Amino acid sequence: MSNLANDKATKAIVKKYGFNFTKSLGQNFLVDANVLGDIVDGADIKENDIVFEIGAGIGTLTEELAKRAKKVIAIEIDKRLIPILNETLSQYDNVEIINQDILKVDLAALVSEYSPNQKIKVVANLPYYITTPIIMRFLEENIELSSMVIMIQREVADRMAARPSTKAYGSLSVAMQYYAESKIIAEAPKEAFVPSPNVDSAVLKINVKQDKGVDLMDSDLFFEVVKGSFSKRRKTILNSLSTYGDFEKDIIEKALGASGIDPKRRGETLTIMEFADLSNRIYCLRRETLNK
Ligand code: SAM
Repeated sequence: MSNLANDKATKAIVKKYGFNFTKSLGQNFLVDANVLGDIVDGADIKENDIVFEIGAGIGTLTEELAKRAKKVIAIEIDKRLIPILNETLSQYDNVEIINQDILKVDLAALVSEYSPNQKIKVVANLPYYITTPIIMRFLEENIELSSMVIMIQREVADRMAARPSTKAYGSLSVAMQYYAESKIIAEAPKEAFVPSPNVDSAVLKINVKQDKGVDLMDSDLFFEVVKGSFSKRRKTILNSLSTYGDFEKDIIEKALGASGIDPKRRGETLTIMEFADLSNRIYCLRRETLNK
């Protein structure tokens, strides 16, 4: 396992380069070899894999990926870390370090440049201030992607992997389920990082669905229905939805009836299939009304 995955080595290298951690960039570097092992094992890297890592830090995870994968594309925003990465990864000729902001980079172009013929894997200990936007970018932008194994805040991991009728289940859980199957595969205490973050963390494995399994007539409407259904968690779905955005109460009532969903149920009890059916019915009823 990486020589960097311990407190002493990490502190020594940052001291050598006079590097000061920037909290606003989520710079909490992994120093626990067991957790590092959980991430790389969970990612199931094969020798032909092309792996994208977001936020390489001092290269602790990058090194383990480089040992296993065909190629690692490591994106790091902080230019002060580039000389450190050049040193810690000097013996690997299969690592490409890219000094860019993952939120600004043309992701599709980057992926097709480095992996024109095969689906990529994403593995990362993510900067926590932008966890959800990063994950959603990869899922929404039709990137050729097979899986993501990512370290994120425990609470966000719980929400992403949540099932219906649980406290953590919300619009983020449904959005994730639309694109993928997600599962928490490991947990990490605060002490697994230098400096320690304020929250506990978890490793989430996201297997991207090659076939979404739900047919949507209008995906924007679907996501509006999901958001509206969770907008008043303690109220019935009828109340929650009909007072959200520009949903019409009579159409919601009819759509719920046609979908066989009791209007007294709460939004948090609906499965993704029920949300899909409900949004398709609303779509059709609205069209019928327009054509009258
Ligand atoms: N991979 C390293 C590890 O496991 O120790 C570092 C992980 S640290 C939690 C997150 C890293 O993401 C930091 O090195 C930070 O500079 C980098 N980062 C933050 N925002 C970024 C962005 N928008 N694009 C690319 N990298 C970013």
